[in-house]
Amino acid sequence: MQKTICLSFDIEDWFQVENLREKFPPEIWDKCESRVVKNTIKILDLLDEYNVKATFFILGWIAERFPDLVKEIHSRGHEIASHGYGHIINYQLSRKEIFKDIRKSKEILENIIAQEIIGYRAPSFSITEDVIDVLKRLDFKYDSSYHPFSKNKRYGQIDTNKKGFFYIREGLLEIPMSVWKSKSFELSIAGGGYFRLYPYILFKSLALSYLKKNDFLIMYFHPWEFDPEQPRIKDIKFSYRFRHYIGLKKTYNKLSKFLEISIKNGFTFRRLDDSIKNGGIYEKIIG
Ligand SMILES: [Zn+2]
Repeated sequence: MQKTICLSFDIEDWFQVENLREKFPPEIWDKCESRVVKNTIKILDLLDEYNVKATFFILGWIAERFPDLVKEIHSRGHEIASHGYGHIINYQLSRKEIFKDIRKSKEILENIIAQEIIGYRAPSFSITEDVIDVLKRLDFKYDSSYHPFSKNKRYGQIDTNKKGFFYIREGLLEIPMSVWKSKSFELSIAGGGYFRLYPYILFKSLALSYLKKNDFLIMYFHPWEFDPEQPRIKDIKFSYRFRHYIGLKKTYNKLSKFLEISIKNGFTFRRLDDSIKNGGIYEKIIG
């Protein structure tokens, strides 16, 4: 079977992340220096260079302020999906608040592109049973919020032993992040901070070995990870600072090199919706 890489981008600004939350509560976001448009355009140009199509999980808060950015992403052939509205991790919200947050983002995005939004990714992978019920009620077709890497306690745990792709509710598919596993240890190779932390050579060999055994590599990035010039916030916990700022200078070049080698290896890049409809994810579903 054709080996497929699905790149995804969670479109949010640098000050909206969980690691910087104590300094940047949502009430002050409108006063912060927005850098999301230019960082996203940088990503779009890189993808165009290699003719790669991807999925963009866009925060409703961003879409509301920058509808032209959503249109631009869409017009360049990428999938528009939802990253919720307000980027509050779902464990802090009631079921009703989760419903409102996700519905609002879906409506905003659908009004901008006049097409149905079928995919969702939770902020900080904060998937819960309530979130899954809400997605089902709102008629989403897939969720991509499950990150089965046990070392990061912020990620949501769902009640499953299933690996790979699976139906999490009737008609609602789960597309988890890729984690490299051996008997004795595991490493996330899904992107984000892991991609920035590993030397390129290590990431490349893990990814290639993963793709020997698996047909799909599912990855995620953020626009602020391509922006070494972003404001540096110093007085926050070391572990937060480390996670947010590690390797920013090299993300762009590393991803560019990885796109090049993947194409040389004959791997295909597909949007998540396209992988579901035409790219063979259905054949991989185990239950
Ligand atoms: Zn996010």
